[in-house]
Amino acid sequence: MAQIISGNIIARTIRQEVQSDVATYRKGKGRNPGLNLLLVGDNPASELYVKFKAKDCAEVGITSVIQRLPVTASQAEVLRCIEEWNANPDVHGILVQLPLPRHINEHVVLRHIDPAKDVDGFHPENAGKLLIGLPGFIPCTPAGVVEMLHRSGINPAGKHVAVVGRSNIVGKPLAMLLAQKRKGGNATVTMCHTGTSDLAHHTLRADILVAAAGVPEMITNQHVQPGAVVIDVGINRVQMHDGGSKVVGDVHFASVEPLASAITPVPGGVGPMTRAMLLVNTMFAAKGTFLSESR
Ligand code: NDP
Repeated sequence: MAQIISGNIIARTIRQEVQSDVATYRKGKGRNPGLNLLLVGDNPASELYVKFKAKDCAEVGITSVIQRLPVTASQAEVLRCIEEWNANPDVHGILVQLPLPRHINEHVVLRHIDPAKDVDGFHPENAGKLLIGLPGFIPCTPAGVVEMLHRSGINPAGKHVAVVGRSNIVGKPLAMLLAQKRKGGNATVTMCHTGTSDLAHHTLRADILVAAAGVPEMITNQHVQPGAVVIDVGINRVQMHDGGSKVVGDVHFASVEPLASAITPVPGGVGPMTRAMLLVNTMFAAKGTFLSESR
């Protein structure tokens, strides 16, 4: 039986740590850390994510503000909002909920955020810092995966990690983090994607297999070597025969769990870690941890 790595439990501990960090900050500065969230349009999933983020903030004592703009908002309006927040010292962290409506250029918007307030870690400056190993904001999901490995006593150093997926928000930054010459890294990383000719050839050699492809239950026992650690980033809503729906990961849990030494569930695995790491990044922003490098 595999060890079930509970993101719910680890994230709860992280939230408690952030809460005590916030209390110390408030004592010293006389104010709360602040996170501003921008939601453009009325995508129900985005609405839900933003509400969860605000709820998490409230729980640990971070002040959050949700700014809603209509789906018809222009790119200039979005940029103006970000500029105001960049200039406001009470706004420590800025998050623009993605996806944006199609007429707004996501890259332009993300580049507009002050890199010192970029708690999602999507600004090219922070992405570049991650690549060359300088301190900066790390996107919440890869940061969460590394943190959950660390807190579960799983050291990637010297191990072969296969990451299935190469998106800018999950696969690529995670591969970079794990390959870095530092604590929590030092792994040999293979990054797989749709151009990979024989996926199983690579995943079967992995001591740690991370699935971040967005394809429901695509990783089966045919992809996993006995004893591997399996981290499932995927969150996919699938239809059931009775007309309802459920959320599944990218890993076929029932067939992989008996083989793995440790595995994350979906839900309750990487998802809660992503949410917790946003709080951690907001505290970094409030404390100005990366400020000197960002100017
Ligand atoms: P993207 O769609 O942006 O990227 C998916 C990546 O997987 C691409 O690089 C793609 O390759 C690769 N891929 C797709 N199909 C295959 C395949 N059959 N074989 C090999 N590689 C494949 O997704 P994200 O990175 O944004 O998200 C991935 C998953 O993680 C989704 O289910 C998403 O919902 C979930 N997610 C979960 C989070 C959490 O907190 N747990 C946070 C963010 C995302 P190519 O580049 O060639 O197209």
